[in-house]
Amino acid sequence: MGIIKILQLTINILSITIFNKDYHLKIRVISMTTMDILKEKLRETGFKITPQRRAVIDILLKHNTEHLSSEQIYDLVRVDCPEIGLATVYRTMQLLDEIGVISKLNLDDGCIRYEISLNKNECHNHHHLICKNCSKIIEVQEDLLESIENKIQEIYKFDIIDHDVKFYGLCEDCKK
Ligand SMILES: [Zn+2]
Ligand SMILES: [Zn+2]
Ligand SMILES: [Zn+2]
Repeated sequence: MGIIKILQLTINILSITIFNKDYHLKIRVISMTTMDILKEKLRETGFKITPQRRAVIDILLKHNTEHLSSEQIYDLVRVDCPEIGLATVYRTMQLLDEIGVISKLNLDDGCIRYEISLNKNECHNHHHLICKNCSKIIEVQEDLLESIENKIQEIYKFDIIDHDVKFYGLCEDCKK
């Protein structure tokens, strides 16, 4: 199923000759698609993609599973875009948050982490597993909370829109 999806995307975006190229290229095609969806969303809201904002978005896309803080984003952006200031990074993150294309992850350690989240309004946030030992953050893509959500809806007559669940513990590596 996953492979079929990748191939379909490839056909949609690039020509058939892509099939001779390696797997790495296909991964890049998918992130280009995310960029296209994102660009469309930004255009809809009138967000101007300046070169500096573009550089911030590129870093977010490239490191999207890493949950970076503004300071970490700034350090990465500076490599290719040395003229950028931390204030521009802060402002860009604030704008992206207002538009609703990023999610914030607060681990109560005084630093907000970000990730691109394009279908925020359609589906529930993924959960995060946070290792107490090495601080690694693992994403759980499955919701797994449907039965709890149903119970809450039934008992409290409360309609759940989303949730923000963090599990703290030890990762596979640290458990050894
Ligand atoms: Zn849910
Ligand atoms: Zn760990
Ligand atoms: Zn995440």
